[in-house]
Amino acid sequence: MSTTQKIAIIGGGISGMGAAFALHQSNIDFTLFEAQDRLGGHAYTSTINTPEGPRQIELGVLGFYPPQYPNLMAMFDYLDDAPKSTPISMLYWNDHREFWSSFQKDTALWKKVAPEVSTFFKDMRALKNAGMMESTFQTLGSFLEARKYSKDFSEKVLFPLMNMGLDQCSDVHQSSLYVCQEFMLSGGFSFNIPTDWYTWGSKSSQFMEKLSRGFEDKIRLNTPIQTIKRTDKEVIIIDQNGEEHIFDQVILTTDALTNLKLLEQATPLEVSLFKNFEQENFQLILHQDESILCPIDLAGERTVVEFYEDIHTFNLVQYFSLQHWNMPLLETLATQKSLAKIDPDKILEIVDFTWELYTPENLLRKARFFNIQGKNRTWYCGSPIIFGFHEDCLASGFVIAEQLGADYPFAEQIGPQKIVDFNKALMLRGDTSLSRT
Ligand SMILES: Cc1cc2nc3c(=O)[nH]c(=O)nc-3n(C[C@H](O)[C@H](O)[C@H](O)COP(=O)(O)OP(=O)(O)OC[C@H]3O[C@@H](n4cnc5c(N)ncnc54)[C@H](O)[C@@H]3O)c2cc1C
Repeated sequence: MSTTQKIAIIGGGISGMGAAFALHQSNIDFTLFEAQDRLGGHAYTSTINTPEGPRQIELGVLGFYPPQYPNLMAMFDYLDDAPKSTPISMLYWNDHREFWSSFQKDTALWKKVAPEVSTFFKDMRALKNAGMMESTFQTLGSFLEARKYSKDFSEKVLFPLMNMGLDQCSDVHQSSLYVCQEFMLSGGFSFNIPTDWYTWGSKSSQFMEKLSRGFEDKIRLNTPIQTIKRTDKEVIIIDQNGEEHIFDQVILTTDALTNLKLLEQATPLEVSLFKNFEQENFQLILHQDESILCPIDLAGERTVVEFYEDIHTFNLVQYFSLQHWNMPLLETLATQKSLAKIDPDKILEIVDFTWELYTPENLLRKARFFNIQGKNRTWYCGSPIIFGFHEDCLASGFVIAEQLGADYPFAEQIGPQKIVDFNKALMLRGDTSLSRT
């Protein structure tokens, strides 16, 4: 019998690829099973047909603010794939001609809410100093109500930004205050000026291709796994053809409900952590219907992220990374959770996504996953386990690879290590006392 551990990775998104990369760098054997015919998972480059011919466009959007994404920055550097600048500017508007924007701060709405904006930032800083748990179990809605924030501030300033950052929350009131606090204090968003964000250097498909160089032979595309059986001696991975693959350890990087579906004889703790995990399905619509854009003239300034109000749900148009690939901004729009009726003739593509909710209950689960890590030869990483930004997904893959004998790939750099330490504390000890950045 070989003394070397055989490791299976389920899923070739950024988490699975992070684990694969770290294992490969340390010469540890593994096989990665991916259901689709491509790597990347949520990170997705689509080819759309335009009158000028087929064009590639990024749909699993990656926008990132470098100080918050040091491992990803290190990876871009390693792959010699310099990310591109994509400054973000914001605009909120509604049918009553109320608005504020990164380019215009003297609007009546902004003057009304400005004092609350500064109070809110003070409140968020005080909460951060009190530690993660203080804010984890409160919902944003209960906090705003208790502190008597106005509806103008909550619904016309705060909620749109929260929805943009988290790509989710049909009811943002129910999201955890902790996520809001992290998000608002990240420094990546300014109400006043466009902030300096970045996106993929090439495209996510090319990034994944570069990342997998040297271990392409260990990747099985088009191989959806159906069942995972665990015994005292081994892990049996069964694919859709009923073929069995034997391993010593398995790393699951799939969403919570898929994890549960795959595990034969899940333990009661695995069931309780994954079963009621709150997820939401939504659609990203790629289109060319400019009629849904804000009619207010902003002195020629082009806003990159635009919100249109309908109380608890927001139309989010013009995803920032679509500016790249030499596309004129208004040529292709991306709208999430569309409220406006988009002309069906102008729709280029609709993509379905499943996304976790950042409710207090889901956050509590994140602090309990350490109880199942490494038990029954099974490891977990990816968005349900940690905070689902690309950075943390990548770091979570590194954390699990390290548990299986790999070295941390960017050990000589201090910035990336801090995010890994934060995720390690959460994933392996349920310790929420560290600061993410
Ligand atoms: C619309 C949208 C926009 C986003 N924008 C940003 C952003 O700007 N910045 C940011 O940091 N984050 C963003 N995110 C979040 C980020 O994209 C995800 O959290 C991250 O990509 C998740 O990576 P993952 O590897 O954990 O999971 P996934 O990417 O979901 O990967 C899981 C993989 O497992 C595969 N799989 C599933 N079932 C099986 C099976 N049975 N057998 C084998 N394989 C299977 C899937 O095909 C998939 O490839 C966004 C998310 C969405 C939905």
